[in-house]
Amino acid sequence: MNISVIGAGQMGNGIAHVFAQGGHRVTLIDVSQGALDKALATIGKNLDRQVAKGAITEDQKKTALALISSSTELAAGVKDAELVVEAATENVDLKLRIFRDIDASAPANCILATNTSSISITRIAAATKRPGQVIGMHFMNPVPVMKLVEVIRGYDTTDEVTKAVVDLSTAIGKVPVAVNDYAGFVANRILMPMINESIQTLWQGVGGVQEIDTIMKLGMAHPMGPLQLADFIGLDTCLAILRVLHEGLGESKYAPCPLLVQMVTAGKLGVKSGEGFYQYAPGSKDLVVAPAFKP
Ligand code: NAD
Repeated sequence: MNISVIGAGQMGNGIAHVFAQGGHRVTLIDVSQGALDKALATIGKNLDRQVAKGAITEDQKKTALALISSSTELAAGVKDAELVVEAATENVDLKLRIFRDIDASAPANCILATNTSSISITRIAAATKRPGQVIGMHFMNPVPVMKLVEVIRGYDTTDEVTKAVVDLSTAIGKVPVAVNDYAGFVANRILMPMINESIQTLWQGVGGVQEIDTIMKLGMAHPMGPLQLADFIGLDTCLAILRVLHEGLGESKYAPCPLLVQMVTAGKLGVKSGEGFYQYAPGSKDLVVAPAFKP
């Protein structure tokens, strides 16, 4: 299948990786050549890790890499696509613009999927002339590792398109779960209030970063504490999702914690900027609590 992935950030590179490993031709598209270069380097590194673990052979790695090409031109990058998966920045106006552009250039039978974490699929679909072929295909981070694909049916999404996306997800070794289209769907409707509450708990001085994360890891058997997870997701993305929940569901319980707003304003975005609740030395996974949060 010809698949175009729009947005080569942390999710886009993982999505390109798993499709190529599943034998599909992938065109990775981003407005930033730097993001494309970084994404291709990351895919290479992650495939190397799979070879080192014995999960795939060197030949399988080479085959997957050969299936991926890249482009900074959206129209040219989607013109032969049978499926487009959009994984650009979590911003509604940007996504509406991208979907209008994809709709104008992709073949008529092409399925248009979005990896949005929270934005209404129905709203995105309404920006196109093919709302029945628009669907949510919500991969989890890190994409090559996480099994779940949350498949979100918009108001007009056809059963045929849902089945095609469910079958494709299964074929690349994922476990698809289909749900309906309300802000945050299922995954982030439940995850983000927990992350927001953990930030609120920190902000009120109930516990420090390590206390909160350790309690949730050892007490609730979470593999990673909520503050570390927020750093991995990206604090800007967490904030954007909470705003969508707050606006879309209209309840004050979804209002983002002022500390989260402050940190994003200060450019502390988590792993991707090198600092969030923890600091991240290049190439190291050691967790060092950021100076602002030392007990
Ligand atoms: P990111 O910031 O790492 O990457 C976003 C990429 O989009 C950047 O490379 C940027 O250059 C590119 N971009 C911006 N405008 C573009 C345009 N007009 N055309 C093409 N590319 C453009 O973000 P991310 O974490 O990869 O998130 C991407 C999407 O995936 C968001 O919708 C997010 O909500 C969703 N998502 C994120 C996570 C997560 O854990 N981070 C998990 C699931 C879903």
